[in-house]
Amino acid sequence: MLPRLLDIQASQQRFDAIVIGWTPVGPAPDLAASTLKIERAYTQTDGFTEVARVPLSSVVYIDVNHNKQQKWVSVYYRLTVIKGAESKVYDTLVVGDVREFIDRKMVHAINTYLRNNGAVPCLIYQQAYGPEATRCTKCWDPVTQHAIYSNCSTCAGTTYIGTVKGYYTPVLTLVDLKPTPANNSIEDTLQSPNTTECRMGCFPILRPGDLIRETNTGNMWYVVSTNRQIRSKTLVSQDPVILRQIKPSDVQYTLPVPTTLTPVLKRHRAVREKILVNNSKTEAQFIEVVV
Ligand SMILES: [Zn+2]
Repeated sequence: MLPRLLDIQASQQRFDAIVIGWTPVGPAPDLAASTLKIERAYTQTDGFTEVARVPLSSVVYIDVNHNKQQKWVSVYYRLTVIKGAESKVYDTLVVGDVREFIDRKMVHAINTYLRNNGAVPCLIYQQAYGPEATRCTKCWDPVTQHAIYSNCSTCAGTTYIGTVKGYYTPVLTLVDLKPTPANNSIEDTLQSPNTTECRMGCFPILRPGDLIRETNTGNMWYVVSTNRQIRSKTLVSQDPVILRQIKPSDVQYTLPVPTTLTPVLKRHRAVREKILVNNSKTEAQFIEVVV
């Protein structure tokens, strides 16, 4: 029998140490025959790398090696109990993730608004992040700790390798992009890019530098900033998100669109939506997804 984990939690102990705790449940011989794999990532969905394998009986693991240099970065953990050929993966864990009733109501209200009020399906590309070993070898100089040139075609200027050109596998969700003309300012000329703002849910959690691609038009936006509202360490809103339009000549425009997509948030009356996969000069390619 595969032992189970109860009371799983992750909390910041000191500024440089995160404690992951659990209570293992099961017959003693099964507990002794099992190990716990601990993986860490800097987004909820992708980029997980193994940090340790420990006995279930150790009950805690203290992570002092997570990257803690950027204030926008959150740390996520994924726990897997392994016994021989059997294994069970537990839900991704975020530090201090204890969501109270009122917070859940607020999150639900935002998602309901998005599902009913003309939000459009968008792909969210989250910037890759991680240890030095995952830096881009083409543009990153490990000695000076700087990129040798910008607009690198391997990492799209993020300086990390990532899953798709410096970013993680994109997440398909609903985003309410505010109409651009209302935000036009005197600076909105051909030289300076459009800016706008949008509303979206709490998942995925955005950082400046992440990208949003409107799936029907192919227009791309760069996340300039978000307004994180955190209650009891849990994100309840990140609205408004301030965006800057990306020019078609920028390297981010070449990021691929996956050919299979599962939306994390669907419209209340979901419709079959054409999603632009490839916008080459000869012919545009679309896939169809119900969002
Ligand atoms: Zn690079």
